[in-house]
Parts: sequence; C-alpha cells; structure tokens
Amino acid sequence: MTTEKLIIIGKGPAGLSAGIYAGRAGIATSVIGCSPKVAGDYDIDNYFGFPETITGNELIQRGVLQAQRFKVKILEERVLGVYFAENGFEVKTEEGKYPARGIIIATGVSRIRPGIKNLDDFEGIGVSYCVSCDGFFFRDKAVMVLGNFAANQALELKQYTQDVTICTQGKPIEISLEFVTKLQEAEIEIIEKKIDHLLGEESLSGVVFDDETQLVADGLFVAMGQASASDFAFSLGLERNGVFIQADEKQQTNIPGVFAAGDCVGRFLQISVAVGEGALAARSAIKYMKAAQKKSV
Ligand code: FAD
Repeated sequence: MTTEKLIIIGKGPAGLSAGIYAGRAGIATSVIGCSPKVAGDYDIDNYFGFPETITGNELIQRGVLQAQRFKVKILEERVLGVYFAENGFEVKTEEGKYPARGIIIATGVSRIRPGIKNLDDFEGIGVSYCVSCDGFFFRDKAVMVLGNFAANQALELKQYTQDVTICTQGKPIEISLEFVTKLQEAEIEIIEKKIDHLLGEESLSGVVFDDETQLVADGLFVAMGQASASDFAFSLGLERNGVFIQADEKQQTNIPGVFAAGDCVGRFLQISVAVGEGALAARSAIKYMKAAQKKSV
C-alpha cells in the first residue's frame, strides 16, 4: 500500500500531461497505466512542435521522462477498478490497491474489435461492452465474456448467473495465477477458440466457433481492451454520455475529486486535445487537492 495522493489512470498523452502539471505543482502524483496504444502504432504529423514526423512511441517516452523529472511515479499496471474509500478513493490494479485523495481518469477509448462477422447486428440485443452496466439484464442466463484478460469481468458476472464462460477469441489466456485459481473456484470455463459468427432471431441465442461447433449464449460481453473508463464510471456513479465520461469545461465530473481528460471524455479525439484536457484536469485536481490538504491540517 502506498500513500500517493493523486492518481492518474492512463499513461497516454492526457494522463502524462496531467502528471507533468500536477508533479510540477508539488502534488504527490502517480500515473498508473499499461502501454498506450498510441505507442509506436503510427506516425504523428499534426502535433505542434514536431516539424518532422514523430512516432507515438517517442512522444510517450518523452512524456514519461518529463513527468518523472517532476517526481511523478509511473506505474506500469493494469487498473481493474476504482472505488470509494475512507478519505477518498481506492484504485485496484492487478498488482495491488492504492489509496488516493483525487483521481484523474485518462484511459482513452478502446478500439479493439473482436473480428466476429455479424457482431454489430446483436449490439444491444445480447452483445454488450460493459459488464458493470448490463450484467444485471442477464440474470440466470448463459453468458460469455470475450477477451484474453477477461477474468475480472467473468467473476463479476457470477453475481447474476452461474452460467459464465470465457472465450479468448483464439488467443492464449493472459491472467495471473491468482485469477486462474479464482476462475477454477468459480467454475468458469475458458475456451481458447475463435468465434466466427453469432446466432439468434430477435436477440442473441448462441455463438458458432471457427471449427463449426456451437455454444448457447444469451449474452456476449466484449472485454478485449482493458477495464474501460465506462467501467470505472459505473462503479463510481459518474455521469456518462454513451461510452464517454461527462466532464465540464474544467474537466470536473459529477463526483468531487474525480476528473477526466482525453479521448475518454469523447470530444475531439486528437493528441493535442488530450494534452490540453490533461492540463485542465490537473489544474482542477491541484485546486481540489490543496483544499483537501488545508481541511485535514
Ligand atoms: P490514449 O492515448 O488512448 O491513452 C490511454 C491510456 O490509458 C493508455 O496508456 C492505455 O493503455 C491506458 N489504459 C486504459 N485503460 C487502462 C486500465 N484499465 N489500466 C491501466 N491503463 C489503462 N491523434 C493525433 O493527434 N494525430 C494523429 O496522427 C493520430 N493518429 C491516430 C491514428 C490511429 C490509428 C489512432 C487509433 C488514433 C490516432 N490519433 C491521432 C488519436 C490519438 O491517438 C488519441 O486522440 C490520443 O492518443 C488520446 O490520448 P489519451 O491519453 O486520451 O488516450
């Protein structure tokens, strides 16, 4: 357990920009994030100050070094959930739990598509992207979670139904030993096959694997990225706008002490905007943290 006071979730342009501002203002800050998709993925030609093309990887590396210069801790961990706790919040990762007085959510948007032929036809009628939001509607139904690190979501579904399966879409499962044990205890089967297409008339009724075998499924939860901003939003009761977090012009959410920036807020999904919103979120968070510190003196 550490005693960090401001935790920023997401190590992309928004999160690192927020970290630089918060660290520079003397706020004890950690940025927790797994490798950003922007890293190395593509060349960036339209970000201010780089007349030659810069790669995403290089931009992030520079951001990390700059944040570290201002004593920001960078933790390479996957966040599983954010919860209310005494004196603020608790951020749960695969490695541990971290207390925080303030939170900035900068988790971007998950663009991972599972490559199932007719997936779109069943969105909202069996296919969902948020266990926390829709799990409730599948009480006592057969549900499948799609993803190779979907253990947490599968376990969450167990509170609604006993019939839960994980499908890794042909990839090897990537979960810790702790979760392997938990899944075994919960009797959740892992299928390492690929779903080819979905079955159903008015709503989803089953899946067909690429070896032509079938399995009954009333619900299919796509969890192919990581726990998303909307999962965190749901557990904290944050206002949302579709899959995006609702934030005002100061990047404040409806929960005091929780701020959001970048693609997860869903304005103009560009690096320059993410960096700007990160700065605004940090400014609001710094004000909040300083007021909280004064109160506790
Ligand atoms: P992201 O960059 O998505 O960063 C989010 C971070 O949060 C990542 O580190 C992610 O791993 C982490 N994260 C998410 N969930 C968790 C979790 N549960 N636990 C821990 N960490 C988590 N923009 C431009 O300006 N110029 C371009 O040329 C350009 N080209 C693009 C090309 C492509 C193919 C794509 C997909 C996007 C492009 N964009 C471009 C958009 C740009 O990448 C985004 O607008 C920008 O990266 C948003 O920054 P962000 O910090 O909000 O989110």
